[in-house]
Amino acid sequence: MITKEHIFELLETVLDPEVPVLSVVDLGIIRHVEIQDELVKIQITPTYTGCPAMKMIEMNLQAAFAVENIPLSIETILSPAWTTDWMSENGKLKLQKYGIAAPIGLAGRSLGLFEKEIQIACPRCQSVHTEKISEFGSTACKALYRCLDCKEPFDYFKCH
Ligand SMILES: [Zn+2]
Repeated sequence: MITKEHIFELLETVLDPEVPVLSVVDLGIIRHVEIQDELVKIQITPTYTGCPAMKMIEMNLQAAFAVENIPLSIETILSPAWTTDWMSENGKLKLQKYGIAAPIGLAGRSLGLFEKEIQIACPRCQSVHTEKISEFGSTACKALYRCLDCKEPFDYFKCH
């Protein structure tokens, strides 16, 4: 018998290729899990439409379930769109330890002018004395910042 607990254990082993400390559960992209006889059906919502990491995540999900001979069907749900609010608190902590500033505030409120007023804390020294260097960091999902105290550049996982 396949249990939901076991499915979540498997899901926890599938990591975001862009931020390999975050599992798909931490990311909050798993919308729904259903067991139908021996088939496991999951619904996922991509973090960013057209994010190349999503294809890899789907392949890694299939691989993780194939190891245990569990047939998996993946359905992609585009609406409602994923927001950083869905990321687990544990996921945000892991991001911070990984050296990426976690998204702050509610995605819906961070649009427009308000976003410029948010002080992003340096994930290394927690200083809020930071500046944005580029709208795009190591991937399109992140912005590049620099800490003015410890002088280290860092990625900020953008709210959206
Ligand atoms: Zn710093």
